[in-house]
Amino acid sequence: MKKFETKLITSGRDIKYTYGAINPIIQRTSSVVFNSITQQQQAIKNHNITDKLFYGRYGTITHFSLRQSMIELENGVGCVLYPCGTAAITHTILSFIRPGDHILMTGSAYEPTQKFCRYFLKKMNIDTTWFDPLIIGHDLSNLIQHNTRLVILESPGSITMEVQNIPDIVKTIRKKKSDIIVLLDNTWSAGIFFKALDMGVDISLQSGTKYIIGHSDGMIGTAVSNARCWDQLQEQSFLMGQMVDSDTAYMASRGLRTLYIRLKQHEENGLHVAHWLAQHPAVERVNHPALASCKGHEYFIRDFSGSSGLFSFILKQRLNNWQLSNFVDHFRYFKIAYSWGGFESLILVNQVEELHPIRPAGTLDFKGTLVRVHIGLEHPNDLINDLSDGLNRINIQQSI
Ligand SMILES: *Cc1c(COP(=O)(O)O)cnc(C)c1O
Repeated sequence: MKKFETKLITSGRDIKYTYGAINPIIQRTSSVVFNSITQQQQAIKNHNITDKLFYGRYGTITHFSLRQSMIELENGVGCVLYPCGTAAITHTILSFIRPGDHILMTGSAYEPTQKFCRYFLKKMNIDTTWFDPLIIGHDLSNLIQHNTRLVILESPGSITMEVQNIPDIVKTIRKKKSDIIVLLDNTWSAGIFFKALDMGVDISLQSGTKYIIGHSDGMIGTAVSNARCWDQLQEQSFLMGQMVDSDTAYMASRGLRTLYIRLKQHEENGLHVAHWLAQHPAVERVNHPALASCKGHEYFIRDFSGSSGLFSFILKQRLNNWQLSNFVDHFRYFKIAYSWGGFESLILVNQVEELHPIRPAGTLDFKGTLVRVHIGLEHPNDLINDLSDGLNRINIQQSI
């Protein structure tokens, strides 16, 4: 069996995708020309086959190559591409859900995923129950209803970084109701450090906007499915017109070639900064999955093969607005921005009450300001100096 470092280099580079070059060709098209009625009829019959041209919306050679790479990377049987990670999540949900169904979702899920269920699916008579990300066994089993159709997981969770006991959760669900479909947002591990389908998850979702594209210059979403969900996922996503342009698909393929070495460096830099923060007197707790202080750390040790560069930490103090400005406004390297997974370091702050409306009661156990950082590929000592200066200036009075 090929190691995945090698798969990242070789996948999607068959001669039928590259035409003899090193990289897959960028094929931009809407129309595909058929030479005869017979050929057109054959194409209609084959339109769901992953690498047969039919019409631009169903993919071109560039897309076929990327899908093949994602299938190999995440050990699936099929992959659908979407214009962004959010589209991958919402359209995968829509591919399986019916009015009257029920969804179970981790309370640590990405906020737009939660809002989609709360504000969009609710209108279609689809209810969602949120649960503590650390739930296992009976507590989860008790939440499963006769109409539960989907369980949506994310590990580690957005912002608070709880690592879930995925094998136990999957086992509990399968035992209680085997037709439930289990989705997992696998963006944090980039499909490298956590093998979702091998752990029994049906569909692994990623915002390829993050590590796969890796340079903060494009957006794409991926859903890699196992055999039992593949036909329905592909057919329904095509019905909803989901696709991405060839140029962006190419950027994702290109990103895959260096994904592993980039991630290893994000990991090394991230750990360096996390360990430094853990001993800083202003810091209450570091939520980095590889540190024992992170909830679900034991599952991380058991199930993951590494960590990426995104984590959060909680300050002892709850910063007021001028303290927040003192801290965040003057970094040399950390930029204030959404998204992550590029080569650069980013920072965001959250007060606990900002998370409250989207989190189930009892799952937030802190009072200090939460800081989320993405550790980029700068030298970690420069990042530590930057953070150190930031923490030191929190209480400096501004001259007016
Ligand atoms: C960013 C992100 C998404 C959404 O991806 P977009 O490409 O920005 O739509 C989904 N899940 C997680 C965990 C993310 O961080």
